[in-house]
Amino acid sequence: MAAASSDVPQDLHSEFLRNNADFAAKFEDGSLPLPPARQALVLACMDARLHPEKVLGIRIGACHCVRNAGGRASDDAIRSIAISQRLLGTKEVHIVHHTDCGMLTFTNDQIAAKIKTDLGVDVAGRDFLPFPDLDQSVRDDVAIVKASPLVAPGTVVHGYVYDVTTGKVRVVA
Ligand SMILES: [Zn+2]
Repeated sequence: MAAASSDVPQDLHSEFLRNNADFAAKFEDGSLPLPPARQALVLACMDARLHPEKVLGIRIGACHCVRNAGGRASDDAIRSIAISQRLLGTKEVHIVHHTDCGMLTFTNDQIAAKIKTDLGVDVAGRDFLPFPDLDQSVRDDVAIVKASPLVAPGTVVHGYVYDVTTGKVRVVA
């Protein structure tokens, strides 16, 4: 049974271990090859309402899935794309952002102030990659991936917005 959002588990660690025992008991995918079968990488936001594999119908072993706050083409996302392409044979990148993203709700100055208040650390000048325009954020990340010297020239890059209220994706780039 899926827990309601208000029903926070008292001991998630124990729950995870019980869940994994059930998962492993039925596991049948232990002989898949390392390279993704569909030669593609999906870069998606970490949002808990977005399950890229379910949204796009990605089977186990089919694609790399890189996730971060916003699904942004950050330096670390580019690092993963470079490893995925050069060592594991992927040729396409699919970027998935989504409606109601937390990255639409703050500015760099605001999160820097909160980190300073809560943690006493000065991160002024650091870019946490928030964005004010959802569709533009997808177009920007598609452009960053296409322009990166660490990404193979001619790589197919698609960009989507996932609607967390309908389950549908919309092609943006
Ligand atoms: Zn998000």
